[in-house]
Amino acid sequence: MILVTRRLPKPAIQLLRSHAPLCYHNSSRSLSRRELLRKIRRARGVVCLLTDRMDRQVIAAAEHLKIIANVAVGYDNIDVPYARSRGIIVTNTPGVLTDAVADLTWALILAVARRVVESDRFTRRGRFKGWDMELMLGTELKGKVLGLIGFGRIGQAVAQRAVGFGMSIQYYQRHPVEHSGRPVPLEDLLRTSDFVSIHLPLTPETHHLLDRKRLALLKRTAFLINTSRGPIVDEKALATALEHHRLAGAGLDVFEREPRIEPSLKKMDRLVLLPHIGSATVETRTAMAVKACESVLAFLRGETPPNLVDGTGGGRGVTGLL
Ligand code: NAD
Repeated sequence: MILVTRRLPKPAIQLLRSHAPLCYHNSSRSLSRRELLRKIRRARGVVCLLTDRMDRQVIAAAEHLKIIANVAVGYDNIDVPYARSRGIIVTNTPGVLTDAVADLTWALILAVARRVVESDRFTRRGRFKGWDMELMLGTELKGKVLGLIGFGRIGQAVAQRAVGFGMSIQYYQRHPVEHSGRPVPLEDLLRTSDFVSIHLPLTPETHHLLDRKRLALLKRTAFLINTSRGPIVDEKALATALEHHRLAGAGLDVFEREPRIEPSLKKMDRLVLLPHIGSATVETRTAMAVKACESVLAFLRGETPPNLVDGTGGGRGVTGLL
């Protein structure tokens, strides 16, 4: 039996259903911890989401489990080393969400630079009394420096879009890549970028990578964008830095303790906050779910599924990291 922990787009579930008996949690709500522990006991495979914490206890409860197919490219919700030690393979869904997340990153860059959300609120409240030379002045993008922390699929797709805006690119990245952008040490990137955007996986190394000290390096005029994973930024330290105007603003799609958000962040106008919708287009969510189900089907056919995760780019499955 294959456990599907939450409602999936129809094409994905139809694909899986025609090939395997399912235990399908056809709901927009996550399984509770207790439900997950109970349902996974008989499963040979599981199609899960980043809201399912597949830690040691859950994996140990799954005596027959052979494959965990995560409907996400990040897999910090899964204890990959432990799964592998039990002979369980783990797959993710890279590639199909790259453009959607890069687009949303740009939606945030433009929104914070041009005060789009703040202006919308202002207009709706009836405060627009006519054109004004100084009304809602923002920041020009042309000629500015975009610093990308993490320069894999999504980071590079964000850089590609920056060409049209006339920005120059610098990036910080673990492995060198062939690109016209400038590779720089992290501290230099933070000191010299006008927009800093994070595109790293969440791992023990990247947890709180942007802590109080590193956030203090940002220019006072800089904007921070995060569409990767919340715990990469120390959210309390970010709130304090914003309160003291040590940076100009932020666009956040992800938070340290989702769905909870540091209360002071919600009060500041210079922020745009989104409910983790980086990959949320109909096309992309369908493609992600189909990709995860195809991995399970490949496994059931006795093949090695595509998109195996080796645990080096994420996956500590640590309680409290999600
Ligand atoms: P990727 O693997 O292609 O790119 C990540 C890059 O980070 C890699 O090039 C890797 O070398 C680099 N890296 C890893 N650890 C590093 C470290 N400690 N220091 C420096 N560089 C390091 O992944 P991707 O497809 O670009 O996705 C990036 C992340 O975006 C995912 O892991 C996921 O957490 C996040 N994401 C978020 C959403 C969302 O809904 N907001 C959607 C998709 C992906």
